[in-house]
Amino acid sequence: MGTELLTIGTELLLGQIVDTNASWIAQRLAEEGIDLYYKTTVGDNAGRIEAALRQALGRADVIITTGGLGPTEDDLTRDVVAAVLERPLHLDPAVLAHIERRFAHRKIPMTENNRKQAMVPEGAEVLHNPNGTAPGLFLQDRGRCVACLPGVPAEMKPMLAEQVIPRIRESFGIRSRIVSRVLKTCGISESKLDHAIGDYFREMQNPTIGVLAHAGEIHVRLTCKGEDPAMITRMLDDLEAKIRERLGPLIFGRDDEKLEALVGQLLRGRKATLAVAESCTGGLLASRLTDISGSSDYFERGMVTYSTAAKEEILGVPAEILRESGAVSLPVVRAMAENVRRRSGTTFGLAITGIAGPTGGTPGKPVGLVYIALAWEGGDLAREYRFHGGRELIKYRATQMALEMLRRHLLAVPITET
Ligand code: ATP
Repeated sequence: MGTELLTIGTELLLGQIVDTNASWIAQRLAEEGIDLYYKTTVGDNAGRIEAALRQALGRADVIITTGGLGPTEDDLTRDVVAAVLERPLHLDPAVLAHIERRFAHRKIPMTENNRKQAMVPEGAEVLHNPNGTAPGLFLQDRGRCVACLPGVPAEMKPMLAEQVIPRIRESFGIRSRIVSRVLKTCGISESKLDHAIGDYFREMQNPTIGVLAHAGEIHVRLTCKGEDPAMITRMLDDLEAKIRERLGPLIFGRDDEKLEALVGQLLRGRKATLAVAESCTGGLLASRLTDISGSSDYFERGMVTYSTAAKEEILGVPAEILRESGAVSLPVVRAMAENVRRRSGTTFGLAITGIAGPTGGTPGKPVGLVYIALAWEGGDLAREYRFHGGRELIKYRATQMALEMLRRHLLAVPITET
């Protein structure tokens, strides 16, 4: 069987929005053992939607559309699908009641054109949309399936995962699926990773292993194909255990876990508190830490001391150290970390100073040079790093490494292990 995806919307063709639906759906279909053969994008034009739909019906068993289910004039998907499949539209009272309830709940009057969204082609199953007004549609037609989903990603995603994919798998007797698991590392090079787990990487057939570099992280992706979900989980667990045996605490997290959240958990568990002093990252470290709900349990304050004067005035970095070593230096970052810790009364002080570029580099202190320090009562740790990439990436990598430095210290893992 083969699938064609039809993403509908003029704004996609104008490049005003990125077709994130297409890549998300493609990934999900691949994971669920559903072959995707074509992706087509078409604007809000009835003639061209019809032509694209007819072409898809001529070469695919499953057609999934997104977009064009709204209440406005340019939302044409429902009408075109009904016309092409020769299924007259009728008003579905249950859908209308759902739409009316949503408007009543939000205390806004329902306009007449919203009734359009309650029109359903004959024989179509209505796919409930808990996050919006436009329901989806699922039609079976001469051995083929047509699923129409809204364009809004937050509405489309749960509908595809929970209502469309199970129907397709059932209709075509698809039993296999592909499940991936990601183990995340930071501060370890790809070559070190290859050295540590390269044999698994080369030998494993199922699950397979892939190593992917992301900004400030390297991911080890385990991918397993099988039919029985429990068996797949067991196979992934086995391989994960083997990899953890080799990499141990160098793996900071799994799948959607974020470094800032895991560092937060460790601080909370130790009843430790943190203050940060930032120069070139301009508050990004504090921002990431406070992205985590409940971070006030351990995050005390952040100081952005961008200028040399601010480092002296706000943090009390001695003028002679600033003069002799320069604002981007190991002695300065150590003083920043220690002073922010002392002034804030926290367990830890974490500091970053560096040159994010693209201007401001010198042969002695090039763009990407970043110093990071962690201070605690009676001790500290400071390192020099050379990050590459543009300004944004260097800033992000610096915060990532600062978080990793703290994480490793909390777990007593040497930071030199890269
Ligand atoms: P609704 O009735 O909920 O508005 P719809 O089916 O009418 O949904 P569209 O009007 O086509 O959807 O698109 C609504 C919004 O959804 C777009 O403005 C855009 O922000 C987003 N969107 C649509 N298609 C895509 C896509 N392929 N990828 C990412 N976002 C999309």
